[in-house]
Amino acid sequence: MRLEKEREAICEYARRMLRAGLTRGSGGNISVLDRGALVMAITPSGVDYEKMGPGDIVLLDMEGKTLEGRLKPSSEWQMHLACYRARADVNAVVHTHSTFAVTLACLGWEIPPVHYLIGYAGTRVRCCRYERFGSEALAQLAAETLGQENAVLLGNHGLLATGPTLSYAFNAAEETEFVAEIYYRARLAGEPVLLPEEEMREVAPLFRTYGQ
Ligand code: 13P
Ligand code: ZN
Repeated sequence: MRLEKEREAICEYARRMLRAGLTRGSGGNISVLDRGALVMAITPSGVDYEKMGPGDIVLLDMEGKTLEGRLKPSSEWQMHLACYRARADVNAVVHTHSTFAVTLACLGWEIPPVHYLIGYAGTRVRCCRYERFGSEALAQLAAETLGQENAVLLGNHGLLATGPTLSYAFNAAEETEFVAEIYYRARLAGEPVLLPEEEMREVAPLFRTYGQ
């Protein structure tokens, strides 16, 4: 089986995504790109994460043609490919429907630098307008709005996070959800104090090497 380690990691992180409350049911999707072979491994569409095994992961080429897999790939395969095409530093994409990120995405609000942990995502997290799930329009808009950051809110839909590794993209999704919650709560209570852009520009790169 090609990309066996990547397939196993995708299954493990899909279950973590569910257990961490970052999505519900079969919402969200995860992919990893093998940049050498230009092959994307992605979760299948609408499959229970608790039952998903490495053999259920679908391998696609950069045009979206299935190379290996019996199941239909995630309906968002175009959105994942669009991120890899736009960004040479991105090797993993995690898309979630986490509650507070979705709340802000339904308000059409971006997340400003209200807490330093937004640094996993970058200096701020922008929000794009609504486009239908699985559409080419959503794929283009998400990749464009993501820009050089590692997270973007998808209008009336969810969150997309990226990273050089799957573990980074997952952390970016988890911490962005945390900051979305803090921002939402702080806005209910008053006017949050924002961190300066210069501070965020210096803090954001520190997450690349944070930890062991
Ligand atoms: P899939 O199950 O097709 O990956 O779709 C879930 C989703 O979140 C669509 O945006
Ligand atoms: Zn979705």
